[in-house]
Amino acid sequence: MLKNIAVIRGDGIGPEIVNETLKVLDRVAELYGHTFNYIDVDMGGCAIDKYGDPLPETELKKCLKSDSVLLGAVGGEKWNDVPGNIRPEKGLLRLRAGMGVYSNIRPAKIWPQLADASPLKKSIVEQGIDFIIVRELIGGIYFGEHKTEGDTAIDVLKYSESEIERIGRIGFETAQKRNKKLCSVEKSNVLDSSRLWKKVMHRLADEYPDVELSDMLVDNCAMQIVKNPAQFDVIVTENMFGDILSDEASMITGSIGMIPSSSLGATTCGLYEPIHGSAPDIAGKDIANPIGTILSAAMMLRFSFDMLKEADAVENAVSAYLDKGYRTADIMSEGGKLVGCKQCGDIITQNLRKE
Ligand code: NAD
Repeated sequence: MLKNIAVIRGDGIGPEIVNETLKVLDRVAELYGHTFNYIDVDMGGCAIDKYGDPLPETELKKCLKSDSVLLGAVGGEKWNDVPGNIRPEKGLLRLRAGMGVYSNIRPAKIWPQLADASPLKKSIVEQGIDFIIVRELIGGIYFGEHKTEGDTAIDVLKYSESEIERIGRIGFETAQKRNKKLCSVEKSNVLDSSRLWKKVMHRLADEYPDVELSDMLVDNCAMQIVKNPAQFDVIVTENMFGDILSDEASMITGSIGMIPSSSLGATTCGLYEPIHGSAPDIAGKDIANPIGTILSAAMMLRFSFDMLKEADAVENAVSAYLDKGYRTADIMSEGGKLVGCKQCGDIITQNLRKE
């Protein structure tokens, strides 16, 4: 099969982790007889330096024409003082909106080999951590009006019923494929948009009688994720709450460097990226963990290209790497074999077997 993949290396550790992921994809192509054609796309700080724009129209078009997009990360201190409308993160928001990818899936699953890397008590980890956060991605406060008038700053949080309904359906459908428990997270004791969210979720619940729907306030959810993560199967929530909760959820599984994500809209052309940022503090040192990006590529194979065996092969290669005790610095624990970013990519590539 021939697939055109738009590749955004971005800033900071972005190029390092993406390069390792392309090694893995190349080996998948070799083993399974596919051709992956990579189209380089500039986005983020590097695009500001080159074009004065974090995502010029020509670069966005390359993404829209591709079969899917693989992204490292964007941003860094160097671009902190550029005016708000050309900050690196604006490129990312424009890309998500341009692709219409309204549903962001972030698994929070502890690899048994990494149980020691979780900051939670062993007794909590032993109950199991395996849930998915379904986050609305192109609405809410990140996409509302932003302005500063004198000494007052304003950010608008707005959701329509149709925006809530389409992400709600993804939540219910995701739960149907798992343990059929959906927790809708909002702040309905304070926010109108959350009261609408709750109303729509309960209306949808009638259409999914096999799924058990519960409600939770976001502040309570933040506590429950560390107190009793085993209670969750699927969480569905709005953009900003999902952003924050998924970072929290990633930490309890060991490292933010391990967690992949997929973002999809109405078509199979998706955006695949690790959930972490550009980690400028460790950029260029060959110590970043590329696994979040490698597992994002596995999600791309599964969800956008329907290459299920290939996706399993990548995940099994990661598991074999962990089994053998290899660890990048972020997940290093006693007895582990310390490796760098490149070596991690090499070992996972060598571990790949045709399933
Ligand atoms: P970050 O996720 O980049 O880093 C947080 C911490 O986690 C750092 O200590 C970092 O070293 C570590 N870390 C992150 N990824 C790692 C990996 N793969 N391996 C090992 N350690 C890893 O968050 P931040 O420091 O708040 O943000 C840095 C920059 O990234 C900012 O400019 C921010 O705006 C941007 N950002 C971009 C995205 C994105 O591109 N999707 C997401 C979040 C933040």
